[in-house]
Amino acid sequence: MNVHDSERIAGLLLDAGYTQALEGSEPDLVVFNTCAVRENADNKLYGRLSFLAPIKKQNRNFQIAVGGCMAQKDQESIIKRAPYVDVVFGTHNIGSLPALLERSRIEEESQVEIKEALEHFPSTLPSRRHSAFSAWVSISVGCNNTCTFCIVPALRGVEKDREEGDILKEVRALVDQGVVEITLLGQNVNAYKNGGFASLLRQVGSVDGLERLRFMSPHPRDFTDDVIAAMAETPSVMPHLHMPLQSGSDRILQSMRRSYRREKYMGIIERVRAAIPDAGITTDIIVGFPGETEADFAQTLEVVEEARFSAAYTFQYSKRPGTPAATMPDQIDDATMADRYGRLHIVQQRISEEINDASLGKSYELLVTENRDTRTPDFRLVHIPEGIDARPGDIVTGRITQAAPNFMVAGEVGSVRRTRGGDAHEARVAEIGPEPIMIGMPSLAKLKLIHGS
Ligand code: SF4
Repeated sequence: MNVHDSERIAGLLLDAGYTQALEGSEPDLVVFNTCAVRENADNKLYGRLSFLAPIKKQNRNFQIAVGGCMAQKDQESIIKRAPYVDVVFGTHNIGSLPALLERSRIEEESQVEIKEALEHFPSTLPSRRHSAFSAWVSISVGCNNTCTFCIVPALRGVEKDREEGDILKEVRALVDQGVVEITLLGQNVNAYKNGGFASLLRQVGSVDGLERLRFMSPHPRDFTDDVIAAMAETPSVMPHLHMPLQSGSDRILQSMRRSYRREKYMGIIERVRAAIPDAGITTDIIVGFPGETEADFAQTLEVVEEARFSAAYTFQYSKRPGTPAATMPDQIDDATMADRYGRLHIVQQRISEEINDASLGKSYELLVTENRDTRTPDFRLVHIPEGIDARPGDIVTGRITQAAPNFMVAGEVGSVRRTRGGDAHEARVAEIGPEPIMIGMPSLAKLKLIHGS
């Protein structure tokens, strides 16, 4: 979600006359698009800001802007801690960034703009996409759930769904530009228009020319069987489901205010696998939530064994001030948390390795990416070695020749299918050169000002 927001920030700034600063050149502007989900993001931001402070001292025209969830959370206090920051903009204020930068240049004063809520989904913001053939499309922002560990609803607000017509318009425009893979984004995609997600999936999935459709993330509470049917019956929908588990213990799920239980979660997985036998299931798990006992943790391990996730994004519980869980009794000490995290990691690594090993010798259709790290249709990481005559954006049939827990290698490539995605990539390289726009971890967009005040 944040990376896509960075694309929107970059799109706005490019529209306002900025250009990308290439690696090695001195940028006139650095924008931090921050995340507040985990505590260490705070520390990272202030570390990076202090790194830029001397540059700011030497060059009065150099500007720094901080946006995203931390800006929404800390607001004025960012300027107190780092007074040389020019602009702080909230999660609902992306559209104002160019004007805020300009005002800060003219008034020679820091600008802070934080809106508490969004009236409508900001459908009209431009976007500078990281790839010519693969794109994210937001279907909603915000979340109506109240998970006790999560700071997202406080920072991103209540759920605002985007109009179906606007989503389809954006998808069609992207496909016309050569995009062949789209991922629909939302904090809780299944809540889209109260049960409207299956129909949206079918409609987007049948847009002519779209080869691959993915989505993230659904919430088990709102997961309905019509979504499984839409996944199974729409050929462009990839056989992958990323569905956060968070804990295998019903007691902890209740305390997390996650309104499903282990049985419901496992039931969804069973029905997905019955309808889509080759589906890959991935998940998110938090260990060390307040009050988690060894018996609760053992239940998480049991579910992991039973569910056989191809990958699990595991996290040690991170206390976020302002959330109900932050003040719960029985906070888990760091050593216990690290121990459980390590044990869960070992179990999941073994399962991931078993699943990847079973793919040795099998062939998959793979969408070639710029760095040749791509995904199987069921979302497992595959590396395509150099020396294969395929352009990023083309689709190849790759045979798996090497497998490890976290990646596989497609050492033999059979057919290469040239796609409009490959054409779009070639056209983009001709336009802006091979340097990809600098968006991604850690969501830092560097742009150079070529005109303006
Ligand atoms: S569903 Fe829960 S964890 Fe996900 S964004 Fe909403 S409140 Fe946070």
